[in-house]
Amino acid sequence: MYCPFCRHPDSRVIDSRTADDGLSIRRRRQCPECGRRFTTTETASLTVIKRSGVVEPFSREKVMSGVRKACQGRPVTEADLAILAQQVEESVRSTGIAQFDANEIGLAILPHLRDLDQVAFLRFASVYQAFDTLADFESAISELRTHPSAARPDSTKE
Ligand SMILES: [Zn+2]
Repeated sequence: MYCPFCRHPDSRVIDSRTADDGLSIRRRRQCPECGRRFTTTETASLTVIKRSGVVEPFSREKVMSGVRKACQGRPVTEADLAILAQQVEESVRSTGIAQFDANEIGLAILPHLRDLDQVAFLRFASVYQAFDTLADFESAISELRTHPSAARPDSTKE
């Protein structure tokens, strides 16, 4: 990070804090050469391309609000949703890919939602996997019966 005043190629971080949106980190830096202070903002590199073509930062809140609708009337708490959103973020980040389609995020949600609540999973899957017919529901349900858990190796659920 170059000093914006004297172009010295190094700087010292004196304070870091997460910005209000939770998606970027603000760092207060000091130049060891001229001693002046400046602020940098580093944004998380994970971005999502919406269907409209707009690119926006990945947002756990958006994951939660998308899943919340599918969970209406189900015994799923806000804390469950927050954990699910964190799991989704970890799984997409672990791919090392920096940009996803909104639809791919939807698909990344599915195995985690399946572990959380099977009815909510079916509602969500019917949208994201574009179920057209009752047969699509039937095959998803029979798949759930055969494999009640997504049985992810990193799952901590019993
Ligand atoms: Zn400087």
